[in-house]
Amino acid sequence: MSETFNKFQSVYRRILRFQKIGVLASWDLYTATPKLGFDDMSDTMTFASSEAFALSNSDEFFGLVEALNEPEEFAQLTTGMQYTIQKLKTELEKSRRIPQAFFEELVSLQNQSMKAWTEAKRASDYTLFAPYLEKLISMITQKCAYTDPGKDTYEVLLDQYEKGMDSATIDRVFEELKEGLLPLLHKILAAPQPDSTAFDGFYDIPTQMKVQDLLLNYIGFSLDAGTTAVSEHPFTTGFSRNDVRITNHYYENNAISSMFSAIHEGGHGIFEQNVDPALQNTAADDCCYMGVHESQSRFFENILGRSKNFWIPIYAQIQELLPEFKKHSLDEFCREINHVQNSMIRTEADEVTYCLHIILRYEMEQAIFRDHVPVSELPALWNQKMQDYLQITPSNDAEGILQDMHWSDGSFGYFPSYLLGSIYDGMFLETLEQDLGNIDEILASGQIHTITKWLNEKIHWYGSLREPKEVIRTVCGKELSAKPLLDYFTKKYTEVYHLS
Ligand code: ZN
Repeated sequence: MSETFNKFQSVYRRILRFQKIGVLASWDLYTATPKLGFDDMSDTMTFASSEAFALSNSDEFFGLVEALNEPEEFAQLTTGMQYTIQKLKTELEKSRRIPQAFFEELVSLQNQSMKAWTEAKRASDYTLFAPYLEKLISMITQKCAYTDPGKDTYEVLLDQYEKGMDSATIDRVFEELKEGLLPLLHKILAAPQPDSTAFDGFYDIPTQMKVQDLLLNYIGFSLDAGTTAVSEHPFTTGFSRNDVRITNHYYENNAISSMFSAIHEGGHGIFEQNVDPALQNTAADDCCYMGVHESQSRFFENILGRSKNFWIPIYAQIQELLPEFKKHSLDEFCREINHVQNSMIRTEADEVTYCLHIILRYEMEQAIFRDHVPVSELPALWNQKMQDYLQITPSNDAEGILQDMHWSDGSFGYFPSYLLGSIYDGMFLETLEQDLGNIDEILASGQIHTITKWLNEKIHWYGSLREPKEVIRTVCGKELSAKPLLDYFTKKYTEVYHLS
């Protein structure tokens, strides 16, 4: 390897280590740090992240990245390193255009704004958050003008989370989905609903943890290369393919919630555990596209986990661990986990109405950045859309526009990636069945590992090497469409709800 590469590696490895320490502190903060230790551990996290940031933004490092981007140097790099250099070059060029004073002002605004949002949500009073939201919208718009001069702001924001997935494509597939979904949803909501209290009971947490481990093992998450902990909101953190950590949150009156969180986070974790080892310590060694990542957690959680056949090989074991479940047949359980209802809160929504919660947020973000709707008019617009899509109106701001934290620190453009994940899933399901045969038969016969292996080989192995549109094209051989997801919903819920 060249001298330039060796110099680059010595700085880059330092950056990766500082980043890792920052992520480790963050993991600790949300799973183990006692209340009184919070500020000190936050300080450690900020220190490590700032060190990584300072190193990667130094002129020396940028010079090395530029030198390695020259053809003769570039040609000698591994695929993972070529990806790393290109990514670093693009990102550093952008971030170096942001004036330092502006950057600091934005970070400070983000902190104040998150506090204001927390207060506003607690008091259910949008006016406490509105001035911060207005300032954030203006500063984020300015930030995009610095990083990507001449480009449409919302396009730049979308690209941060799901590279290459432009709004023309998203408009097309979301519209396709909305058109098909609304009539189906209205039919479902008019049909008889199951008793949603049937599975209420007392489920002690150690037992729920055993159920979690059984499920993780069943879907293929390795507990030798992974670990679990408890946190307020479930999340996944990967340090390397050999150290992937997932969290869960347990409710003593509800065992089903932690079961599905385990399957969801397990899906994220399986992705991280199965990236090509040759990509280790490069920027490609995990998946940085939120929609593609989310497609994997949702594939396990919804497409597999909400299918009756997923449970056939293990329902008796679940009943042994949770004797309350012995009162309920597998059919009753499947009815419960596929209960569709219009509700106010996105994170509690079923897989069908969830799509509309996201479409609403996508349209709100377009209203903000494209139509420049005044901040004072946003709650009314939110409520109108809830009425149009889900036929309900929030009774206050906390269960309306203030419910999610994403906008509180300016993470605009993130929401669409959740639904893109589900749309990809429809396409993956169609292709998987062409390759492996009927998914219901595979699951019912206890062969779920063949599905996990297919996902490992087709998707996980490549980490970040392929951008989302390329993933779809190479795995499915066609362009993105919402039709397979709609077909899946229609077939499944016509059966579940006995629709005609
Ligand atoms: Zn997720």
